[in-house]
Amino acid sequence: MAGPSITQKEIDYVTEAVRSAWFSNANVFHDRFEQGFAAHCGRRYAVSLPSCTSGLHLALLALGIGAGDEVIVPDATWIASVAPVSYVGAVPVFADIDAQTWCVSPESLDTLITPRTKAAIVVDLYGSMPDWDRLAAIAQRRGIALIEDAAEAVGSRWRERPAGAFGELSAFSFHGSKTLTTGEGGMLVVDDERLLDRVMRLRDHGRKPGDVMFRNEEIGFKYKMSAMQAALGAAQLERLSELVDAKRRIFKWYAEELDGCDEVTLNPDVPGLYNSYWMTTVIVRPELGIRKEAVIPELKRQGIDARPFFYPLSALPAYADTAQAELARAGNLVSQRITPYGINLPSGLTLERDQVALVCRRLRDCISALASA
Ligand SMILES: *Cc1c(COP(=O)(O)O)cnc(C)c1O
Repeated sequence: MAGPSITQKEIDYVTEAVRSAWFSNANVFHDRFEQGFAAHCGRRYAVSLPSCTSGLHLALLALGIGAGDEVIVPDATWIASVAPVSYVGAVPVFADIDAQTWCVSPESLDTLITPRTKAAIVVDLYGSMPDWDRLAAIAQRRGIALIEDAAEAVGSRWRERPAGAFGELSAFSFHGSKTLTTGEGGMLVVDDERLLDRVMRLRDHGRKPGDVMFRNEEIGFKYKMSAMQAALGAAQLERLSELVDAKRRIFKWYAEELDGCDEVTLNPDVPGLYNSYWMTTVIVRPELGIRKEAVIPELKRQGIDARPFFYPLSALPAYADTAQAELARAGNLVSQRITPYGINLPSGLTLERDQVALVCRRLRDCISALASA
């Protein structure tokens, strides 16, 4: 379903780290990975972290967001995009997604802004990206901050600018399922020095950067990655274009194998978007009424792993009881039209063409069986 491409380079770097990245060399691989990653995103600073979730948590804290504030998130995303809003005691507000990009709808976001809105967390979903220029214009006009959740989009571009270039702070995930992995891990990128300073203190138990006397100035968090993870990340980053090419090749195989299959549509391909296709995803034509809950178990019986398109957050037991979720269920028609029929297909980086062809044969069979049932 999802998994990395590991070569001798990764093994060599991690081996070197476990041997040498101690004592005064403890941060050599962190520095290499962070500098390379900041450069890739065209940002001044990058901070390596244990996860993307911790990155979004720090981003909200650095912006001073807390109790009584509202933060807008797209309704259709992984819960990690929104859980940090709850951690800081702010109220998540669920915006609809756009039918073309699957990312947050700028119109929906605009209408949900209130005097309490401090920020929006915008997600580059499944490697797609929203119209960042429109979002930036709205954010500037309405005086809110944009945080980018680029967990699924390393290597994607919007109008030639890379994912990670668009948020006041932008967060990435290097979980084992992501395009670039460190096993578990994350990165926050930022340009503003004051925000960086807040992030550096909050991620290290409230210590001033450079503190050697262990004098904690506030209560913070402990959000770091190990040198072995950073070494793995540094190796993967050197291979990033190869990894993205592989994702795009897998998508192209699916597009060719499913050519002429009118029952499904594939990931967004809108002008200005260079999609890194973290997961090739099909939407079964909603009019057919064939839901993901029917397709996925049927594929499993045929030996094919698949995942559901994220459920709207407003439909998850975790958030369903909130007033904001109730509003979202009444208003977010695109999220509700797309997500029941979306299926992520196997997209691991070691997939071969004949495996993709097999998945597509099984998928076609499965849909025709369910359509005539
Ligand atoms: C994977 C993912 C995250 C969380 O990443 P972790 O590193 O597991 O914390 C956040 N947002 C999205 C959209 C993701 O897909």
